[in-house]
Amino acid sequence: MPQIDFDPAHKKNGFVEFDKLKLKKDERARILVIEKPTYAYVHDLRKPKIIDGQPVKVWRDKRGNSGEKEEVYDLDFVGRPLCLGDLTVIEEKGLDENNCPACARARKNDDVDPPTRRFAMNVIKYALRADGTLVQPFSCQCVVWNFTEKKFNDLVGVAAEHEGLVGVDLVLGPCVSETFQNFPIQGSPRHFWKNNEETQRIVKETYEANRIADLEATCGRRQDKRFMEYDIDSIIEAWRIVNGGGSPEPATSLVGSEGKASAYRPMAMSDSSSVGSGNFGDSMAALVNDAKPAPAADTKDTPNGTALTHNEPAAADAMNFEDLLNRLNN
Ligand SMILES: [Zn+2]
Repeated sequence: MPQIDFDPAHKKNGFVEFDKLKLKKDERARILVIEKPTYAYVHDLRKPKIIDGQPVKVWRDKRGNSGEKEEVYDLDFVGRPLCLGDLTVIEEKGLDENNCPACARARKNDDVDPPTRRFAMNVIKYALRADGTLVQPFSCQCVVWNFTEKKFNDLVGVAAEHEGLVGVDLVLGPCVSETFQNFPIQGSPRHFWKNNEETQRIVKETYEANRIADLEATCGRRQDKRFMEYDIDSIIEAWRIVNGGGSPEPATSLVGSEGKASAYRPMAMSDSSSVGSGNFGDSMAALVNDAKPAPAADTKDTPNGTALTHNEPAAADAMNFEDLLNRLNN
């Protein structure tokens, strides 16, 4: 095992603490989309599980719902680092082997997958009673929704029906699989946040006070290049053991497509993706901050001109808020 200095650069951190949108089995939820998503390219790193020097196998259903089972190597989750490649290069070539060790390995051998997009956005989750109606008094939470390419495509469909998603209530669930966060998504014709000025104010304040700015860090781990290489070496070594040992390079090159095709890769993990462009210029927060200062009459109540006021000007501000949303949707 290599030695290492106590250097901050070697910390395996890069994770941010955040509340995430996660549904339990059969659970439903209602959320408000309040900003456009960010995305980051990530590598989903897995390796064969080795116990007592032997690879572990598991049975799983064959693809295509044939009902047949097949025995495959059980895979351990190694990590989900953010791809170190250049975004332009990845979007053009699918990977960036010159800047990212995982991409370089993916180019050479499919024991490592090319990067995939993983998406993230802050959403407002309404506090609901069991019957799906709002709890009283009105309450909500700002959480991060991370999702994969497949869900992004689902949301594109919903967005088409609603001419955009920002400002739209989505009804989620019931959740089919907690592990894969598999649940139907429907746009609602009614938006709870619009109920009255009070709900608008609470939603806005909850979002502004609790949103995660660094969404990219919720998509994958920011990993030092050397740590990424270390993880990749461990993947190569595990596959070398699976293939009966021998010298590392010939063995790993043999793993090739056979190893990957038989590997157990849960779909929800393998199609994970996305980037974080920090695209808050499109977010409601940015728009709110752009809002005109409140009229002089209530300046003393809203010194920064961004908070909704509690008296007459509130109605005007609330309307501006809606106008801003409308603008967002256009
Ligand atoms: Zn990469």
